[in-house]
Amino acid sequence: MTNINELKNFSKDIQGKIFFDYNLKKTNWFNIGGVAPVYFKPESLNELISFLKRFGSKEKIFLLGAGSNVLMNDGIFQGIVIKLGKKFSNISQLSDTTLVAGSAATDRQVSEFACESHLGGFEFLSCIPGTIGGGLKMNSGCFEREFKDVLLSIQAIDNTGKILTIPSSKINFVYRGNNLGKNLIFLSASFKGKIGDKSIIQNKINELKFKKNQSQPTKIKTGGSTFKNPINQTKEKAWELIKKSVPLDTKFGDAGISEKHCNFFVNKKDASFKDMKNLIDFVKNSVKSKTGIDIETEIEIIK
Ligand SMILES: Cc1cc2nc3c(=O)[nH]c(=O)nc-3n(C[C@H](O)[C@H](O)[C@H](O)COP(=O)(O)OP(=O)(O)OC[C@H]3O[C@@H](n4cnc5c(N)ncnc54)[C@H](O)[C@@H]3O)c2cc1C
Repeated sequence: MTNINELKNFSKDIQGKIFFDYNLKKTNWFNIGGVAPVYFKPESLNELISFLKRFGSKEKIFLLGAGSNVLMNDGIFQGIVIKLGKKFSNISQLSDTTLVAGSAATDRQVSEFACESHLGGFEFLSCIPGTIGGGLKMNSGCFEREFKDVLLSIQAIDNTGKILTIPSSKINFVYRGNNLGKNLIFLSASFKGKIGDKSIIQNKINELKFKKNQSQPTKIKTGGSTFKNPINQTKEKAWELIKKSVPLDTKFGDAGISEKHCNFFVNKKDASFKDMKNLIDFVKNSVKSKTGIDIETEIEIIK
């Protein structure tokens, strides 16, 4: 680990904050996690660049968004966690049909901004509780739309502090992922929408939110869909395979399966990483032995 004094000195010259021994539990939707020896919250691009130039190639870095797709280990995180500050969440309109959003902006904020700007095509974002950065990494989507469908380009920074602009045509997006290097931090992205009527766009947002609330649980400690749909092996969805392979009241400690949607796993009270990981492994193995199908996690397990 980088010399803590060096980091303390660096923190004196910046507006952003460096926290030491930061509790990760409250930083993610599962409310599970250990301690990050160093947790950096940059408040400007210059701060992020200088930080990466000094420490970026010495350390493993994990960029945390809204924490809605991660399961974190209870132990001590081996590396530095970076969480982009408020300055990375600006959203603005570039032209009649295009907008740019900082990667710390939430998907919901972008969807609302687009609606206010009479821009359609972003309604699905109102149903995904993450940030733009997490959505780009996961190629998140719902109701037959994904990030790749609206993306024009990404602005990113690598672990040496070098900034790159990557047009969407140069990125190979797949279901819940892309082929970009693991070391890239997304800074912002530009998107293309379609001029539309504000009230029609708002109605569509309401309709999608309603549908989502009908089928998926809300206000619980979850990471959303635990497993990806195994689209290359079967037409059946992950939840259908789980339903026929596992008793739905299966629990490991306080880790259980949502009654509303069996691909959503829940921290019912104070589940540990091990409880949730045991549940995930149990379900994966049960689906394999009952159906022969290998299901892969959609949530990212951070060790
Ligand atoms: C209740 C609920 C409902 C959900 N519904 C959906 C849904 O309908 N569709 C769907 O696709 N997903 C859904 N999800 C999953 C999740 O919301 C998405 O994957 C979301 O895009 C993750 O964004 P995040 O900011 O929370 O990322 P995090 O969980 O913080 O991180 C996820 C990954 O993205 C990376 N990352 C985050 N920000 C950046 C950045 N700036 N630069 C580089 N890498 C970055 C992280 O390093 C990590 O690898 C749901 C989750 C929950 C809890």
